[in-house]
Amino acid sequence: MINTLSDRELIVQVVKKVQEEKLIVTEVLNYLEEIDRRKVFIDYGVPSLFKFCTRILKYSDCEAAIRVKVVRAFKAAPIIKEKIKDGSLKLTTAASLYSFFKNNKKQNKEDVVKKICGKSTKQAKDILNLLADNPLPRLLNITLPEHLLRKLESLSSDFEGCSELEIIESLIDRHIEQNKQAKDKRRSNKQSKNQRYITRVVKEHVDKRAQNRCEGISPISGKRCESRTNLQYEHVRPISKGGDSSKENIRKLCFGCNARAGVKALGVQKMLQRDSVKLPKSTNYYLEDTNAGPQYSFIAPGG
Ligand SMILES: [Zn+2]
Repeated sequence: MINTLSDRELIVQVVKKVQEEKLIVTEVLNYLEEIDRRKVFIDYGVPSLFKFCTRILKYSDCEAAIRVKVVRAFKAAPIIKEKIKDGSLKLTTAASLYSFFKNNKKQNKEDVVKKICGKSTKQAKDILNLLADNPLPRLLNITLPEHLLRKLESLSSDFEGCSELEIIESLIDRHIEQNKQAKDKRRSNKQSKNQRYITRVVKEHVDKRAQNRCEGISPISGKRCESRTNLQYEHVRPISKGGDSSKENIRKLCFGCNARAGVKALGVQKMLQRDSVKLPKSTNYYLEDTNAGPQYSFIAPGG
């Protein structure tokens, strides 16, 4: 069929197809945005939108990273959506806006988007560098000596399936948590009557049970969430609904599972208000961890 077209028709039709392609890309992004809002991916046993894109939708890591960043950038500047749709903003450029907005909070987002519309990737990058009010984030490149590498490898059985970077982050998290516990201990004498207060003993019990892994369970696959970063203590039954701070009512959830639980308990709108106040810390691999999932069920104590 294509080989029977005249030269002119060939060009007219490919232009039309590319326009359709851009519309479809925008539609897919809209779906991903809604999936992210509802944190539905948790139900499918994946801890983040990024992993949903790679595992379920079969995008490559790079394709998934770009789409997740673009979806995040939508929140910062909704105008990005229409600019992608009309073809004046490339996906990769839109993705770079996500990092830019995070590091340059004072900028008028809509103005920035307008300045890079219609520009090549290289031109857009140069413009963003000029506009940046902070230097680029530091990149720490470390070469680990052999003995340290061996120590790290010896931990791999405790951190099954984790990358070296994730292991290092978990160890740092643990150290920070231990410092916090030491402070809690000092404070425990004047322990408040606050029902939300989780004692050190309860935290230790939960830590032991959770084994440094999110306790969320996918209601669909029945599998436990794999996330080992950004873990936080959470009341299974909220205090407002009669829950207490006993070890049976405390679980450890990753940021995503926590958010999903919140969406289920409070609804998307409430959670969006909450998200705008508190966002997870970011790392170079935040895409894999940041939105790790929330969840609904809970591993039984001792389970
Ligand atoms: Zn989780």
